Order: sequence, then C-alpha cells, then structure tokens
Amino acid sequence: MLYDFYWLNIIIFAKKIFMDNKVRVRFAPSPTGPLHLGGVRTALFNYLFAKKNNGTMILRIEDTDQTRFVAGAEEYIIESLKWCGINFDEDVIKGGNYGPYRQSDRKQIYKQYADILIENGNAYYAFDTPDKLDLIRKEFESQKIQFQYDVKTRKNLRNSLTLTKTEVDEFLSSEKHYVIRFKMPENEVVRMSDLIRGNIEVNTNTLDDKVLFKSDGMPTYHLANIVDDYLMEISHVIRGEEWLPSLPLHVLLYRAFGWESTIPQFAHLPLILKPDGKGKLSKRDGDKLGFPVFPTDWKTPEGEVYSGYKEWGYFSEAFVNMLALLGWNPGTEQEIFSLKELTKIFTLERVGKSGSRFDPDKTKWFNHQYLQAKSNNELAILVEAELKKNGIITDIKFVEKICEMLKERANFVKDIVKEGKFFFQIPESYDAEAIKKRWKPDSASILIELKEVLAATEVFESNILENNIKQHFESKNIGLGQVMTPFRIVVVGTTSGPSMMKIAELLGKNEIIKRIEIGVEKINF
Ligand code: GLU
Repeated sequence: MLYDFYWLNIIIFAKKIFMDNKVRVRFAPSPTGPLHLGGVRTALFNYLFAKKNNGTMILRIEDTDQTRFVAGAEEYIIESLKWCGINFDEDVIKGGNYGPYRQSDRKQIYKQYADILIENGNAYYAFDTPDKLDLIRKEFESQKIQFQYDVKTRKNLRNSLTLTKTEVDEFLSSEKHYVIRFKMPENEVVRMSDLIRGNIEVNTNTLDDKVLFKSDGMPTYHLANIVDDYLMEISHVIRGEEWLPSLPLHVLLYRAFGWESTIPQFAHLPLILKPDGKGKLSKRDGDKLGFPVFPTDWKTPEGEVYSGYKEWGYFSEAFVNMLALLGWNPGTEQEIFSLKELTKIFTLERVGKSGSRFDPDKTKWFNHQYLQAKSNNELAILVEAELKKNGIITDIKFVEKICEMLKERANFVKDIVKEGKFFFQIPESYDAEAIKKRWKPDSASILIELKEVLAATEVFESNILENNIKQHFESKNIGLGQVMTPFRIVVVGTTSGPSMMKIAELLGKNEIIKRIEIGVEKINF
C-alpha cells in the first residue's frame, strides 16, 4: 500500500514536470454570435502565451448549448481571427491528436464522465421540470428570497438524493425530463489560485448545484469544458473575468474526478470597459458608440450588418497592437509592437487586475502610426485598389506622390482617397459656403491673370511657381490670399488641403489651366 502511494507520487511528480514544460492553451468560444473585441483579446493573449512558451494553441468550439447556436458564427470566429494573424496549431479544420475540436462532435464522450460523478457521489439526478422550478422561484421571490438549487433547497426537491432508488430508476426509464447536477459540498472553503488575481477563497455554501448534463444527451458548458481541458491536456486556462465565478466549481470538478494533479493554471483577464469607464463594453455597444466592437463585419442571419474594424479601414496589425495593450503592459513606454515582437515579450505577470477602458481615439492613433510606417508605394497600392472600386484607373507613381503628400494627416487609407479625390477628377461642384465668403468680385480676373503667369512658367515646379506668382502679384499690390483662395477653390473645390504649389506641380500645367478656365466659367456664371 505504502509502496503504491510512493509510485503514484512519482508518477504525479513526473507528469507535473512534463506538463509544466508543455504549454497547451485553448481559445474556446461558443458560436453564439460574432466575436467581440474582448473575445479577440482573449484569443490573442492565449496565442501570445503559447508562442512565448513554445506551446500549442488550440481552438475548441464550445457548441453544446444548441438553443444559443447561431448559424455562421463559427466561420466568422475562424475567419476574423485569421484576419488578426492569430493562428491555431490544432483546430476544427486542421485537426490534431486531441480531436475532435467541436464539442457537438464529441457528444458521446461526456455522458460517461457524468456517470463517474454520479457513481462517486459528486453528482445526482434532478427531476424537477423547468416549469416546476419556475414556480418555486416565484414563490421564493414573493418572500423576497432568491432561489437557487443548492445544498439547502435540494433537500426538498425531487432528485436522486431525496427519492428512493426505485423511484429514481422509474423516472430514468420513463424518459422523463432529468438533469445531472453537481453536488456542491456543504460549508467548505475552496482555495484557488489565479495567475492574475492571486489567491481566492470561496465558501461552497454560496454556490449552487450547477447542471452538468441534460436529458437531451448534451453536457453543459461546465462539464464539457472541464472534461475537454483534461483530455486535451490544457496546461493554462486564460479567459475573461466573467468566468471567475465558475472557477470554484471547475476546481471542485477536477477534484471530483481525481484530476487534481493535472489541473491547469488559471488566468482571468480583466474586463474591457466602455470609453466612459462605466461598465463592460458589450456586443450591444457595437456601432452605437460610433465605433465597431467586432473585428470584421458581422451579418446576422436576418441580414442586419454590424461593422467591423477590417471594413472600417483598420490595419489588422494596428487593431491587434491596440488590443494587446488593453490589460497588458510591456513595462516600458513603447506602444508600437508587431505581433511577432509581442510573442517574444508577452507575460501574464504584466496583465493587470483592473478593467481597461477602451479608447476609440487611441485606436485611431494606432492606425495612424501604422499608416505612417508604410512606404508610399505600399500605400499607393492600397489607394489604387480603392480607386479602382470607384472606376478610377490611374498611374501608380502619381498615386505614390499623392500618398506622400496626404499621409501625414490621414488615419486610414480611405482618408487619402477622400482627401485626394480632386487629384483624380475635376471638382464636380464648388463649396458654396467658401464661394459665398471668399469669392470676391475680382477673383475671376485675378485667376485669369494667374493663368497667364502659369502658362508662362516653363518649369512647373512648386518653388518656381511660388516665386513667379509672388513676384507677379506683389508688384501689382495684390495680396497672395486674394490669389490663392480662389485658385484653391477652382482646383480643389474647397478651401482646405495641402500646399497649392505642390498640388499644381503634381497636376501639371495643362490640368491646372483647364481647371482655372472651367472654374471661372462655372462660378461666375
Ligand atoms: N465557451 C466559453 C466562452 O464562450 C469558454 C470559457 C472558457 O474559456 O472556459 O467563452
């Protein structure tokens, strides 16, 4: 006996060393809708942790709750994470040694585990129908008590703890509604440790007897999650703070199965808060607050569209960089990190406990930084593709120069397209407000004179143009403002934009003269 115990300890110890070296993490979303940016952050932190530790990153689809299943959600999750550059080593598509990776495909696995708990006294059958429980709940509420199926109430309910064996067998064979519930121990302190939150203690009397298995043959999240984490040899469970209340049950389930020696380490990530800091940023906030909460556009089965960062014009690198800093910090002032860099420096020790406020302006700032870091050629390719969509075909070298001129003020590629539209087409209309305020009775004649100056300028370069224009009009005592504002109106269509001389140089003599002629005629008419 003593001898057995000795070997058992050696095996457990050896397994622990082996497991410690073998990091296996999973991202385990339920396909109940699109992935919110908090979910993407959870996937990201798992990915970074796996890469940093030469570990394995797993995608497990937790779809045991058929009532909440949403068509297209699984595909959305896979595609949107791919866009972020978050790849999996084992998943529903690639497979792996621990598959299947979709819980509905593992359905036959779970019942035997529920049975183990029934047999070893850690779970029981409960026969109260949902309607009956609703009635009881209402009764409790009328006395201002909140009902839960727990150590106290289970003594007065219809379950295998209160019924005789014959009654239980009868119920089970009559195919009536039943569930298997966890038998929460009475008045015990559960001690847990979390890599982010430290040590936590909870008294079991505050916890309810959660349903583990339903008579439709499906496990609930809790049972399936624990069984799969065990079977898939998950070493670290990194997930959102909303799962912290489930931790005592999960720890107790490991104990009930006798799997304590391989229990994963837990890390519960802090919440992502709304920009005003009041409450959790939720899926329902999408678009309402003026920014997307989803990585890519989500089209509901009913055809409604919620916007995503990708379609909004964000670079995935900027989106991911922003997410990495929501709750984690590098311990330095550096803010710009590539995914690769992050996989080298990420640690759970630098994840904070308190909620991180989502800042939509900062998110734009990240995109701005990534846009500035792109070469003019890289940007021109992106701008050209956008222009093509609008039927505008143009020369890439020309677009490169426009990118160089406009990128500093742009957050998105679409800003360059919008701000640079006049480069590709003559203004269709002129800003009425600007004309009202800035178009003077002598503007047309000044522009005709300007046209002559420009026509006479041989080398059409911005500094030469500037010199010639200045010289000509200063000698006639005409202020430069009187010339440049109407000039800009006829060329650009409005009064704002980059340097007029540079614009003139880029558009060239013929185009500029054409725009002056058309503008003067249209505006003065
Ligand atoms: N299926 C759960 C979810 O949707 C997984 C929670 C966990 O990681 O344990 O988030």
